[in-house]
Amino acid sequence: MTLLDVDDLSVRYDTREGPLHSVNGISFGIDDGINYALSGESASGKSTTAKAILGLLPDHAEIESGAIEFEGRDLRSLTPSERQDLLWEEIAFIPQTAIDALDPVMTAGAQIRQAIQTHRELSERNARRRARELFEMVGLDPDRVDDYPHQFSGGMRQRVVIAMALALDPKLIIADEPTTGLDVVVQDKIIDNILQIQEETDSSLLLITHDLSVIAETCDEMSVMYGGKIMEQGRVENLLLNPTNPYTMGLKNAFPALDDDADDLVSVPGKPPSLGTEPTGCVFEPRCPFSSEECATTEPDVETIPYRNQRVACHNADRAARIRQEADDASR
Ligand code: ATP
Ligand code: MG
Repeated sequence: MTLLDVDDLSVRYDTREGPLHSVNGISFGIDDGINYALSGESASGKSTTAKAILGLLPDHAEIESGAIEFEGRDLRSLTPSERQDLLWEEIAFIPQTAIDALDPVMTAGAQIRQAIQTHRELSERNARRRARELFEMVGLDPDRVDDYPHQFSGGMRQRVVIAMALALDPKLIIADEPTTGLDVVVQDKIIDNILQIQEETDSSLLLITHDLSVIAETCDEMSVMYGGKIMEQGRVENLLLNPTNPYTMGLKNAFPALDDDADDLVSVPGKPPSLGTEPTGCVFEPRCPFSSEECATTEPDVETIPYRNQRVACHNADRAARIRQEADDASR
């Protein structure tokens, strides 16, 4: 069953410099029990998508189009109090910077208890017990529930936020770069932790990260975003082993050597697109080694690749995939 369904979502920010078309007509769905990754380099629109789903966009943002449904319920038409109930209870959010989610003048335990007691009839004593339990679940010393956020390290604060997010057994966890800025060992531990808990609680995950190795380890399906568009989506193993969109190949450092400039292409050179105007051609065209005339003038639709359970937006997907495959074979 589809848990979350995002259909043709577009989001614009109105800034002093003019409108910014940050998300442009993206669609994806997350089925029950699926771990889904949203990837793409900085400014591709990942966090904006998450905030649109959660109803947490700032006032100067406008959802221009699109339907967002959670278990068939239209999330865009929720009243503030309905939304309040949905957040935490059904959809939990681990934001990009954990410190933003914590109140510096309240102990960690008090914040977790407050999150629980806002939604559940639970005595102080039981809420305390639950907070300690959650601390243990995320690998924190339960005796530290009465510490303040500043008494924890960055990695520990991230765990406090995860504990809070899990307090009410949500059906979907949305985690936005939950390990960015932490050292690699801590990153691994936190990812393991999220996965373990998620298995225990049977929830689905929307993981936002640019780290493809984390995705390979944790997720079943993924979408790759660029310039507010979906470039490619499908099963993680298909997409990472057989990227078909040149942008995905670039993310994977897997551009085939087309000419002498090939070395430069490896890390997807160039700047992200300007989002001031709505795209007319493919957003990746200026940076794409496979671009043709059509790419500059006509936006590619996201289309299913026959027999591959993979969807891609690229006019030259067949050619790009073939050349990449040949390069792969040649390097074996
Ligand atoms: P990152 O990997 O750096 O977190 P992202 O994929 O999450 O990037 P977003 O934060 O969604 O990207 O930003 C998409 C675009 O929208 C960027 O150009 C960004 O500058 C712009 N943007 C994001 N938040 C705001 C805001 N509050 N006001 C105006 N513009 C914004
Ligand atoms: Mg972000």
